[in-house]
Amino acid sequence: MRLSRVLVLPALIPALISGCSSGPNFVAKLEPWRAKEENSCLESGVLARTTFVASRSALGGPSVCGTERPFELSAVYGGRVQIKPTALLRCPMIPQVDRWVSESVIPAARRYFGSDVIEISIAGSYSCRPMNHVSGAKLSEHGYANALDVSGFTLADGRKVSVKRGWNGSEVEQAYLRVVHRSACQYFTTVLGPNHDRAHNDHFHVDLARHGSDGLKRICK
Ligand SMILES: [Zn+2]
Repeated sequence: MRLSRVLVLPALIPALISGCSSGPNFVAKLEPWRAKEENSCLESGVLARTTFVASRSALGGPSVCGTERPFELSAVYGGRVQIKPTALLRCPMIPQVDRWVSESVIPAARRYFGSDVIEISIAGSYSCRPMNHVSGAKLSEHGYANALDVSGFTLADGRKVSVKRGWNGSEVEQAYLRVVHRSACQYFTTVLGPNHDRAHNDHFHVDLARHGSDGLKRICK
């Protein structure tokens, strides 16, 4: 790793938002794949198919926190599943969230609960901070708008299945959440849940980081 490619910077964005004068430090690397993936996603026109994304102005700088063209995602599955609160994400995350929900989260809910999912509860999306909020750690994928924290699912019949209560809840909740967690590994390169550590006992973290020397390794815990 060349030193010239590593930046240690204060997290300016949350400081601006919260009005604080300083934020936690993090280590950020300039990684060309990020802009490349974002641009090819934008050029693919994949987002033109949904009216449930709103374009937002650039977050942070292209080399550190943020993303060039962030989007606010308010619903997936053709608008039938609300994302609450709305999530701030970069382009490549959006079709993956949509596919995960459409192909796995909803079919599993029908199978286990006999009901559709109508809402997904979000515990976090864009946030310019070090990993696990540890000062001096690597910049979290949340800092690139490349990660989503999902804390629960609301069913059409009114039931709510939260990661916090359901992971060790009823037999059917446990089975459902494990299927949803495992299936996320097909759509995202990092998936962390309650079995990973205590920091994830109430949500599933999913992101599109590149792992390993070829960037193809997946982390599914
Ligand atoms: Zn997360």
